[in-house]
Amino acid sequence: MLAKTASLLVAASVVAIPSLATTTPTIQTISKDVVIVGGGAAGAYAAVRVREDYGKSIALIERESHLGGAVDTWTDPKTGVPYELGVEAFLDYGNATKFFSRFNVSVHVSEQESVNTQYADFSTGHWVNYTVPTAAERLAAFQKYAKLAEQYEDMMLPGLWDFPTADKIPEDLLLNFGDFARKYGIEAAVPTIWDVAAVGLGNLETQPTFYVMQSFPAPLARVYTGKGRTLYVASHRNQDIYDRVSDLLGDDVFYSNVVVRALRTSNGVSVIAKGTDGRQTEIHAKRLLIAIPPTVSNLAPFNLDKKELNILSKTTYTRAYAGGVVSSNLPSNTTIINSALSGNWLNFPDLSFLQWYKALNSPAHYHKVMMFGNETVDSDGSRGLVEQSYQQLVNAGTLLKEGGEGLEWLHFADHGAVNVRACLKDLKAGFIQELYSLQGHLSTWYTGAAWSAQLHTPTWAFSDSVIPRLVEGL
Ligand SMILES: Cc1cc2nc3c(=O)[nH]c(=O)nc-3n(C[C@H](O)[C@H](O)[C@H](O)COP(=O)(O)OP(=O)(O)OC[C@H]3O[C@@H](n4cnc5c(N)ncnc54)[C@H](O)[C@@H]3O)c2cc1C
Repeated sequence: MLAKTASLLVAASVVAIPSLATTTPTIQTISKDVVIVGGGAAGAYAAVRVREDYGKSIALIERESHLGGAVDTWTDPKTGVPYELGVEAFLDYGNATKFFSRFNVSVHVSEQESVNTQYADFSTGHWVNYTVPTAAERLAAFQKYAKLAEQYEDMMLPGLWDFPTADKIPEDLLLNFGDFARKYGIEAAVPTIWDVAAVGLGNLETQPTFYVMQSFPAPLARVYTGKGRTLYVASHRNQDIYDRVSDLLGDDVFYSNVVVRALRTSNGVSVIAKGTDGRQTEIHAKRLLIAIPPTVSNLAPFNLDKKELNILSKTTYTRAYAGGVVSSNLPSNTTIINSALSGNWLNFPDLSFLQWYKALNSPAHYHKVMMFGNETVDSDGSRGLVEQSYQQLVNAGTLLKEGGEGLEWLHFADHGAVNVRACLKDLKAGFIQELYSLQGHLSTWYTGAAWSAQLHTPTWAFSDSVIPRLVEGL
């Protein structure tokens, strides 16, 4: 039966995907049980588990020359010191510690940061008279928030498989987060919720509470009440975990490749992957696991059908960029956070903005920058946010021109779409069930942050929940 299915697919692919094969010859054709697209957190983790623990053959297609997605360890060429310009810390969730130890990557639970924090309005360049919540206020607010989020933990993590249908969605999850925060008196937790994980949503005041909790779920809240843990890679090089995954997966990973054509049926899939070197590989597989953000533009090569287009067209997303900059005018041990108005913990900038110049604790005044933009903000636009904000701070006299030098880029990365979401009206109308109805449709399964939480290790756990469904019957 399987052999018959495979040959049908080969025949179908020859008919359905001829144009590429005729213009540029396909170099190789391979057959696998599962083809995975996207070797970031969810995809690389899934590749290991599907091949090693479920004994299924895989091909993993990754656009970059390395695995790891939002992990971006940059090594200073002058000193050899690594800096985390993407993911910094890993929530101890699900099988996270086991996955690190599987690859002999040591982790520990606390990291001391000895930097000052100051607040400025990057649109004016002026310091703001911002009073941060006291430790006691913050703890009390997080104790309340953790309890509230725990009520919904099982329906939201590791994924939304059991999320209530439209008429049963808890009212609180549909409230604007500003109203939710005031209703429960948790304002003192909000600056941390925004800064640590929900920043990609922009101004939290008007975001549905559901999406804020998807970014900052109960297990993360427990970290701030002393009942949860965050893990740090002991080598100070987060890329270590994915480099070891890469070594294990070997030739099953197609780096610097993207899918340019696909044929998907309920019996299996054929995809053509094309490398930046122009080489093409035609991969026949019984199942496809998509581990890139499910935006309509990302999925264009997969020839979405009407059902898929109808559902995915309802989503919007935020574009995330990050990098490192250096200027002697940026104080080496001070992080400057972009904050809007004084005294109001619920006031944050609207998309698009620079989150902060975060001190990297380097003697060389290195700062990390993270930018979040609407769908129209491209790489140049996001770099512009950093340069304009810097100029505003200098013009306002907020940054003293001690060194007289401008701002230089050390490193820049485009992290693509984050916080893929539907509007409140669609959420209320049952968007989550619609989205999840795509799981398994046309032999295609999905994993990644859009399906679970906007954090690294919960996407690993979500992959754990998809894999048994994905491999069933193989
Ligand atoms: C800058 C930044 C910092 C973060 N810091 C933290 C943190 O400290 N702790 C934490 O828990 N979470 C953090 N997160 C969030 C967390 O990393 C994400 O939630 C997680 O990476 C999502 O996993 P994913 O697999 O869905 O996407 P990703 O990890 O982004 O993986 C997607 C992968 O698909 C690849 N890809 C994209 N398009 C294609 C294509 N067409 N073909 C082939 N491959 C493609 C990408 O190159 C990437 O490798 C951070 C996110 C960002 C952007």
